[in-house]
Amino acid sequence: MSDSRTELNELGEFGLIDHLTKNFINRNSSTIKGIGDDAAVIKINEDESRLISTDMLIEGVHFNLMYMPLKHLGYKAVAVNVSDICAMNGVAEQITVSIAVSNRFPIEALEELYEGIHLACEKYKVDLVGGDTTSSLSGLTLSITAIGKANNTAITYRSGAKEFDLLVVSGDLGGAYVGLQLLEREKEVFNANPNIQPDLDGNDYILQRQLKPEARVDIIQFLKELEVQPTSMIDISDGLASEILHICKASKVGCHIYDEKIPVDAQTSIAAIDFNLDPHTCALNGGEDYELLFTVKQEDFEKVNANPNMSIIGHITDEKDGVYFIDKQGAAIELTAQGWNHFKD
Ligand code: ADP
Ligand code: MG
Repeated sequence: MSDSRTELNELGEFGLIDHLTKNFINRNSSTIKGIGDDAAVIKINEDESRLISTDMLIEGVHFNLMYMPLKHLGYKAVAVNVSDICAMNGVAEQITVSIAVSNRFPIEALEELYEGIHLACEKYKVDLVGGDTTSSLSGLTLSITAIGKANNTAITYRSGAKEFDLLVVSGDLGGAYVGLQLLEREKEVFNANPNIQPDLDGNDYILQRQLKPEARVDIIQFLKELEVQPTSMIDISDGLASEILHICKASKVGCHIYDEKIPVDAQTSIAAIDFNLDPHTCALNGGEDYELLFTVKQEDFEKVNANPNMSIIGHITDEKDGVYFIDKQGAAIELTAQGWNHFKD
């Protein structure tokens, strides 16, 4: 280590990963894709590959146990890893779970965490095959690795989008972010006066989007049944804008996305407006929806358009045309990522 000191926020999360890993080369021919996509791709044979993705959740950074029940946390931690396997157009089969816990937690609390993990294993048909357990000085850290499988011809990278492809998103967006705003508000109210009951009525959908997100394994199944091979795909963990930019950068393309096409649930809109937030800004820049963003060839328009779980929100353009968001008045606004940056502030 040199004497100079560079602050983490100078690089940001992705800059830091690039910086730390730039001198690594892949030595094994089985490593088809290393760093840089939703999961690594390791060749099994000519037909199939293994997919591996890992994610870490830290108390106080990614979750707050004041409003995130441990059972939900366990479920969510598995779901977000399965989501990364979905984003490669694969199927998750196993997980490993590593935890670091302080003695603030009784065994009953960890049992609750594992109830959620168990529920998710049943839902996503994955096997818990290992992990690690250690003590921590404060708080809870949870790291899950998901292992999946896919046919080599089905695997979908961030880098495959081509000019004229259609940009598609599953489900609806912004709900998880607005749900988080609601939980944060009620936490403040509770802190100010613990006798006041939280006011969460009528907001079950956005709360569920934040507390119990699902990996879109159903979308992967639909695509298979429809015989649609996406040209690129990513899951939406950091907000639509950030993920579109990832696809465009990796695929060396531009795109146009249309504000009016972005799917936002009515409950998300009502709650967003209540918070003085623009619902579509929540969809663009909020995080944790865990929907899938993908591109398909023009010829698949009918198949995708007919499916109520998928919305076509734009199309891919030449790289030099840039990445633009077209608002309801038809004005083109250049898209910049305002996704989570944990190193900010
Ligand atoms: P995702 O949002 O899909 O979970 P990330 O943005 O966390 O993906 O990571 C982007 C890529 O960088 C992935 O390929 C991931 O495996 C890799 N990566 C992240 N952190 C590290 C690290 N500390 N060392 C090596 N690779 C990393
Ligand atoms: Mg991902």
